[in-house]
Amino acid sequence: MVVGVVGLGTAGSAVAWQCARRGLEVVGLERGPLDEAGARWVNGVPRRAFLDAGVPVPQAPELRAAEGPYHLVAGWGPTRIRSTSVLEVDMRHLVARLQAGAREAGADLREGVKVLSFDGAVAQTDAGEVRADVWVEASGLGGPRLLERPEVERTDLCTAAQEVREVADRAGAANFLRTWGAREGEPVCFTSVAGGYSIVNVRVEGEQVGVLTGSVPAHGAPGGPSLLADFVRRHPWIGLKRFGGSRAIPLRRPWDVIGCGDRALVGDAAGLVFSAHGSGVAMQLLTARWLAETLAAGGDGWAYNVIVQRRLGGLLCASDLFRRFSAERVDADVLARLMRRGVIAPGMVEDTMEQRPARPRKRALARALLGMAREPSLGRHVLPVLLRMRLAERHYARYPDDPTDLATWKQRHIIAA
Ligand SMILES: Cc1cc2nc3c(=O)[nH]c(=O)nc-3n(C[C@H](O)[C@H](O)[C@H](O)COP(=O)(O)OP(=O)(O)OC[C@H]3O[C@@H](n4cnc5c(N)ncnc54)[C@H](O)[C@@H]3O)c2cc1C
Repeated sequence: MVVGVVGLGTAGSAVAWQCARRGLEVVGLERGPLDEAGARWVNGVPRRAFLDAGVPVPQAPELRAAEGPYHLVAGWGPTRIRSTSVLEVDMRHLVARLQAGAREAGADLREGVKVLSFDGAVAQTDAGEVRADVWVEASGLGGPRLLERPEVERTDLCTAAQEVREVADRAGAANFLRTWGAREGEPVCFTSVAGGYSIVNVRVEGEQVGVLTGSVPAHGAPGGPSLLADFVRRHPWIGLKRFGGSRAIPLRRPWDVIGCGDRALVGDAAGLVFSAHGSGVAMQLLTARWLAETLAAGGDGWAYNVIVQRRLGGLLCASDLFRRFSAERVDADVLARLMRRGVIAPGMVEDTMEQRPARPRKRALARALLGMAREPSLGRHVLPVLLRMRLAERHYARYPDDPTDLATWKQRHIIAA
């Protein structure tokens, strides 16, 4: 069987590698140079994603930092809590590693080939026709649309930027860390700085500093690149850019159908993003493995779709409900109150960073309930969304096996999400 992959960023390269290592014939098409494909910045990815996907955990220089203390600040402070960070991964190296693995396993990866459209098993490209038995779209937000789906709404688009820069003044950096009670290597994440869903995340490490920003401009906020430029301007200890980039991230739950017959979607093209913090890489690594396993076992796009919707749909839908809640209701003041009352607590932040369902321990839950009892307006904000998140998890666990039951499932979906 020949698997055609459109786009060789993280999602496409992971699919190419996972399929090729299972003995499937792979042809991967990337519109640009292979060594410029996908994310060109540093992303936070939970270690568990690599382990579960069977992808060796990154080593330096791909790995820029392991887990450690993480400081979440409400707005520009002073209220903050300390939780635990995830792996910091240089995506340029991860994408290159996945591409190299795919090639070693026999995949045919072609650069400078843009897919324009599909005609059954044939992809029309600017370099001629390419035939495959199964087509996988991994082309991010703006690909050739292998499966029909609407445009992502502007209110569901985060613009994010991440840059690694030089530290121009070590004393200034040390002073910044001291102010926030952080050490070198520990991220300080200012949250709700430009409307509910927005961050400026700063991590100083020796001679370098990583700055990650994100927001939803449709809500009237400055975009990620502007937030970053503004933060750099206000902190003269931050020097010149070494590398990085910016792009839009779809904030949503997966599309209701991400695989069907001889077609499948992965990565941003599938809406497979943990939208509470706009993270896609863990989901890409996991689903690439599941897609390859399904195809190697003789399954089709629909079988892959059912697996992903049931295993991840509830988690991602719940995460998106929380994202919408935070965008609409959680400004810096509300966030500070939620932190002070123990409703947003280190354990919950850790669950979110690890991209797993939030399941507070008994003591944390008791403290949160007490906090909401003392400030009932917070409870009125938070409890309905927590309930809907649990309903969404249950709803996706019942994603139908039979495509003809999909319409009924979707109708009930309106209740859950
Ligand atoms: C600044 C920033 C910070 C982020 N931080 C995190 C983070 O901390 N953790 C995390 O998990 N995620 C993070 N994300 C999200 C993550 O980077 C994306 O989810 C991920 O890069 C998407 O990967 P992808 O392979 O689906 O798509 P892409 O990276 O967009 O790759 C798609 C590839 O397809 C190619 N392509 C497109 N159209 C065609 C075509 N017609 N023919 C052939 N090739 C085509 C493109 O050239 C591209 O190389 C961040 C995103 C941004 C912008």
